[in-house]
Amino acid sequence: MTSVNTGRTDQHVVVIGAGIIGSCCAWNLRKSGFEVTVVDSVMPGQSTSYGNAGCLSTSHVTPFSYPGVTREIPGWLFDPSGPLFIRWSDFPALIPWFWKFWRAGTKKQFDWSTAAQARLMKQAIDDYDEILSATRTDNLRNKRGAISIYDSRQEFDKEIWKYEIKEAMGFDWQILSQGELNIMVPELDIGDGVAVYNSDWQFMVDPARLVSRIADACFSQGGHWLQDRVSSVESSQQGISISTESGQRIHSDAVVVAAGAWSNQIAQQLDYKLPLTAKRGYHSMVGAPGIELGYPLLSMTRGFVMTPMTDGLRVAGTAEFAALDAEPDYTRAKLLLRQAQDYLPNLRCENVSEWMGQRPMMADSIPVISRSPAHKNVFYAFGHGHYGLTQGPTTGKIITSLVAGQEPAIDIHDYRFARFRD
Ligand SMILES: Cc1cc2nc3c(=O)[nH]c(=O)nc-3n(C[C@H](O)[C@H](O)[C@H](O)COP(=O)(O)OP(=O)(O)OC[C@H]3O[C@@H](n4cnc5c(N)ncnc54)[C@H](O)[C@@H]3O)c2cc1C
Repeated sequence: MTSVNTGRTDQHVVVIGAGIIGSCCAWNLRKSGFEVTVVDSVMPGQSTSYGNAGCLSTSHVTPFSYPGVTREIPGWLFDPSGPLFIRWSDFPALIPWFWKFWRAGTKKQFDWSTAAQARLMKQAIDDYDEILSATRTDNLRNKRGAISIYDSRQEFDKEIWKYEIKEAMGFDWQILSQGELNIMVPELDIGDGVAVYNSDWQFMVDPARLVSRIADACFSQGGHWLQDRVSSVESSQQGISISTESGQRIHSDAVVVAAGAWSNQIAQQLDYKLPLTAKRGYHSMVGAPGIELGYPLLSMTRGFVMTPMTDGLRVAGTAEFAALDAEPDYTRAKLLLRQAQDYLPNLRCENVSEWMGQRPMMADSIPVISRSPAHKNVFYAFGHGHYGLTQGPTTGKIITSLVAGQEPAIDIHDYRFARFRD
């Protein structure tokens, strides 16, 4: 691992949350010479960052709210095999978020959000190159690209505008002929559908291991680990004071809030709540699928991904809106598996495990990577939604620059905490 710059070890930074975002922040901060303590109630990478689809989805730059999206939502909601679910008992509490989601769908907001997302995506691979090489984890990455599939030409034509935007932003895509598809993924059957090759995508074959290796690299260079839950954070002229559920108190010079979907619980103590919600996703991990895929396959029609991983085939997806503490509904994970079998007729569903995670989703689809509006020693890194795995290393670098009082490598104005009140 890269050695630390010992010039700044007088400054102590606490990172709350050990998902991909917190771990990348911690690693970068330690590399820059800060004394770092990471606090989480679960081990690094055991929350949402554990079970994602593993894709570095660099060309997915368009936001989830766009002009006309509200006309499509009822169709998704009333299709029992569709990708979107709402727990209606939790819906009243979600109305403010949905209101802001709808407001984010104007043409002007859409263009803003696309540009802001693309700026982060453009950095993603370079920043992964650096962190994977420094933490000796490049064996967890596959650079082969990914394939998006549509069940019909009509479905693809409906989305062609997204590809025009990707192209304008410099991302490559190519429709595959049936012959090419047969060679690349002989196990796949899409009938009269369309397959698109995204050459710039990469994927991780074990996302949880990736996070724990990055966190371990921080700890092996002197970073500290505390397994506990933060209950309160106070900021004053003297610094940061953190209390944990087990009764510990930690004092530091700065704090980074990287608590994923739970970040509002801390943000509201220091500043105020933002339109962040938990957009749940599920996976079924098939330990013995009986087939081997060379690429992640994204069903764009049905909203899920099939990714070949070290431990088998992961079928991941679904967008379920529910309260943070609502019980998982694993019928979603079972549905994903049945849908995967439609595309992969020879898929054997043996040794299957099921999982649910909570994507930290901002109403405008753009993460918060920012200094606090009110406290100079409080920093926020959350709300990466569907792309936290992709954007972890870039977020870690930006946060480290901010904590060090340096100008980040990219313009970060669009990711500011205060943007919903400007
Ligand atoms: C089904 C699914 C598929 C996905 N596929 C992809 C993909 O292919 N590519 C991609 O880029 N992204 C993907 N994502 C999104 C990605 O997984 C998330 O954006 C990312 O994991 C968020 O990381 P995080 O570190 O912000 O949150 P988390 O991993 O949830 O980490 C936050 C941590 O904060 C801790 N925490 C919370 N509150 C406190 C507290 N008070 N004190 C201490 N610790 C606290 C939690 O315990 C947790 O460990 C997917 C998500 C899902 C659900």
